[in-house]
Amino acid sequence: MFGNRITLFKLFGFAVRVDASWVVLAVLVTWSLAKGWFPFALRGSYPDSFYWLLGAAGAIGLFASIIFHELCHSLVARKYGLPISGITLFIFGGVAEMEEQPESARVEFLMAAAGPASSFVLSLMLYGAGAAIQWPAPIAAVISYLASLNALLAAFNLVPAFPLDGGRILRAALWGWKDNLRWATKIASQTGSIFSIALILWGFWAILSGNFIGGLWRVMIGMFLKRAADMSYQQVVVSRALQGEPVSRFMRADPVTVPPHITVAELVEDYAYRYHYKMFPVVDDGRLLGCISTRQLKDVPREGWGAATVASLLEKCSPDNSVAPETDAMRALAKMNQTGASRLMVVSGERLLGIIALKDMLQFLSLKMELEENSR
Ligand SMILES: [Zn+2]
Repeated sequence: MFGNRITLFKLFGFAVRVDASWVVLAVLVTWSLAKGWFPFALRGSYPDSFYWLLGAAGAIGLFASIIFHELCHSLVARKYGLPISGITLFIFGGVAEMEEQPESARVEFLMAAAGPASSFVLSLMLYGAGAAIQWPAPIAAVISYLASLNALLAAFNLVPAFPLDGGRILRAALWGWKDNLRWATKIASQTGSIFSIALILWGFWAILSGNFIGGLWRVMIGMFLKRAADMSYQQVVVSRALQGEPVSRFMRADPVTVPPHITVAELVEDYAYRYHYKMFPVVDDGRLLGCISTRQLKDVPREGWGAATVASLLEKCSPDNSVAPETDAMRALAKMNQTGASRLMVVSGERLLGIIALKDMLQFLSLKMELEENSR
């Protein structure tokens, strides 16, 4: 999901990272505060450079508010034994990266509620601090901005649209009620889709009425949420079905293998065109040497196909192209997703046990879902 990111620091053991896209948000917030919010709030009685300073202070405050929000999610997650790999700030805010899904509706509810609740409390505290003392006007303006910002953060996240916190709360409630995570996720991600489409339409309307940046922002957030809502449902369906299934269950034993001494021309003619696989294990006298895939052939010019041998091109066994038989199917799927390979070798030591193909896993998935749908 993220491209280039750097780790800033550790907070309560959680790595706080920032994605390159965060810069866009930081600049946009600083700019809109320096040019709009603060000159308006302070009635323009200060020099321009001072507003930029306040804008930067506001952006740092936003940054701290988001980290605080995500930290509260993360602390609750850790309390219930769910590993969090870190907190990442990106163009649309922040995310606490969960490695596993909560195993009960109650834990999901508590984890989801922790974020908006903490933002709401922080907002109240900032309002209190702003009202308690007679601050100099610029400081009062920053405090009041941050107080409203945190109230807005709490409110926006409470919208019942998965994967926003409110959508997670909704899912937890439905999940607890009917004890069916798949159905609960389906409803929550459908409300998420509806909300994001509404946000996109509102954004277009704003653009047409002249608010270009504000409108574009809504369209972008809406598109991001739409994708996340659709994906989260698929993820639940797939991970529920594949959870705890070892790859040996989908494996095809006795796969077609190729000997190392044949030429690329023979490989293409006798194997690739005949079996339509993109990858073949290379085996010599029962010993697994590696694999050869269509990807490696792309580097060989067509006129060289008669001379180049499989042995000279093969890719050695590595965690990128092979898995152990006891590997979780979910993990194998994630690996295929990462490397783009649709077939992996199932290997034990130096021995080839079989091949696991994406197609077989998907077939298993649809079969399992069909059977479970009917039995319900
Ligand atoms: Zn949250």
